[in-house]
Amino acid sequence: MARVVIMGAGIAGHTAALHAKRLLGKETQVVVISPNSNWNWIPSNIWVGVGKMQKEQVIFPLGPIYKRKGIEFHQALAKSIYPEGNSETQNPFVEVLYTDPSRKDQIGRIEFDFLVNATGPKLNFQATPGLGPDGHTVSVCTANHAVEAAASLQESISRMKAGQKQLIAIGVGHGTCTCEGAAFEYTFNVDYELRQAGVRDMAEICYITNEFELGDFGVGGMIFTQQGFQTTSKLWTESLFRERNIKAILGAHVEKVEAGAIHYELVDGTKSILNFDFAMLLPPFRGVDLQAFNKAGEDISSQIFATSGFMKVDADYSGKPYEEWRAEDWPSTYRNPSYPNIFAVGIAFAPPHQISKPRKSPNGTLIAPSPPRTGMPSGIMGKLAIMSIKELIKNGKDAEVPTASMADMGAACVASAGSGLRNGSAASMTMYPIVPDRVKYPNTGRSIPDTFGEIGLSGHWIKLLLHYMFIYKAKARPGWSLIPE
Ligand SMILES: Cc1cc2nc3c(=O)[nH]c(=O)nc-3n(C[C@H](O)[C@H](O)[C@H](O)COP(=O)(O)OP(=O)(O)OC[C@H]3O[C@@H](n4cnc5c(N)ncnc54)[C@H](O)[C@@H]3O)c2cc1C
Repeated sequence: MARVVIMGAGIAGHTAALHAKRLLGKETQVVVISPNSNWNWIPSNIWVGVGKMQKEQVIFPLGPIYKRKGIEFHQALAKSIYPEGNSETQNPFVEVLYTDPSRKDQIGRIEFDFLVNATGPKLNFQATPGLGPDGHTVSVCTANHAVEAAASLQESISRMKAGQKQLIAIGVGHGTCTCEGAAFEYTFNVDYELRQAGVRDMAEICYITNEFELGDFGVGGMIFTQQGFQTTSKLWTESLFRERNIKAILGAHVEKVEAGAIHYELVDGTKSILNFDFAMLLPPFRGVDLQAFNKAGEDISSQIFATSGFMKVDADYSGKPYEEWRAEDWPSTYRNPSYPNIFAVGIAFAPPHQISKPRKSPNGTLIAPSPPRTGMPSGIMGKLAIMSIKELIKNGKDAEVPTASMADMGAACVASAGSGLRNGSAASMTMYPIVPDRVKYPNTGRSIPDTFGEIGLSGHWIKLLLHYMFIYKAKARPGWSLIPE
């Protein structure tokens, strides 16, 4: 009986777990290790963060679903991987630290034949002094963070109602952050909520980002056709910022945050301070704190993980200059080169290079949006890993496995710009491929007919529909597998 262990129960890991149970049959044991008892539909944390949704609407307990599906669930943090076993056992295993209240702080050993690393990001607030909920800014990365953000925003709104002007800063808290799309969404949702509260004229909203241009979103921007004309995500986003009277600080690396003051450096090397009354800044991501050891007990973490802490897979990590990278550098099987029975999917795999052009200030500070790995590709990779494991179980370790490179994969992204059934709006974007392929598409790196953007009320309805659809799917309700990743 094969044993498939999945670390992480987010978008990639939970998708992998449900498909594993469906595709691998009764003779395979499916095990999930994850520190939280709940699943979180992270995209809707934006709405929790402005008080439009309750935390309970974006989370649900995983235990009952795994019980119903016959998936073994360990509420624990994976700490170390032993891909060759150790002196006591030949079997590969993961060492875990239980967070489950009934076994809290116990150490466990979970053996595997195949391992799927879907541990997502470590929210690396520590990279910027003063950043984050333990410092001076709020976050919407987890449902609990979003609840705190909503309370803090509400305090600011009360001050505005009492006649006090407020400076609202929203963006990313480090030069190497990713997820600019989420910061963009939160900015426009806050703008919308302030209008609804009748206090928009009492606030100055400032978006602070490591993107060199608006509309970059960490994917180097997009060129698409709108009403028969070609336009860029830059033009499109700039006009939205003008229309909503939102200022932008571009190409910024946040150096530190003090109470009410964001210290930042720009690509040209100048340093300034943005004073704020309310600030939501996303943290940079790195791989979670995992280590790996060989049979002799030697630390092989640097062989398995990149310096970013993300796991190495079948990508080109030679570190060639930005101008020289090619679509083929991106991974397509997500298998670790040293241990091909280990996969890393979603945010957990190490990207080979930035998609957006990285820049350095004259002071040597790197200001470079990291490549986003959004929900759709994360789900696709989770399913792909299971389809590959199915082939490997059936046909042996040399079996051909399916592939799905981000340079040959599209993504749809709907960025909310205000939540309201009749007057909400969202920016809907699709791009193909996510990673530009300049050989296949010499002009723009992407297929123009398959790259598209539009803003309007229908986008909000789609975003709301996706909220309900993905929670339905994640709850493994009847027909869940028909809903695409
Ligand atoms: C505010 C916000 C809004 C977003 N909005 C959108 C959107 O609108 N559309 C979109 O496509 N994407 C959006 N994203 C991105 C999307 O959330 C990610 O692409 C997606 O969550 C990545 O999936 P993942 O499974 O790789 O990571 P996650 O979903 O973060 O899951 C990681 C899992 O690993 C677990 N874990 C962590 N450490 C360990 C460990 N040591 N051992 C075991 N388990 C561990 C975590 O608890 C979690 O269960 C948004 C992100 C943010 C922060």
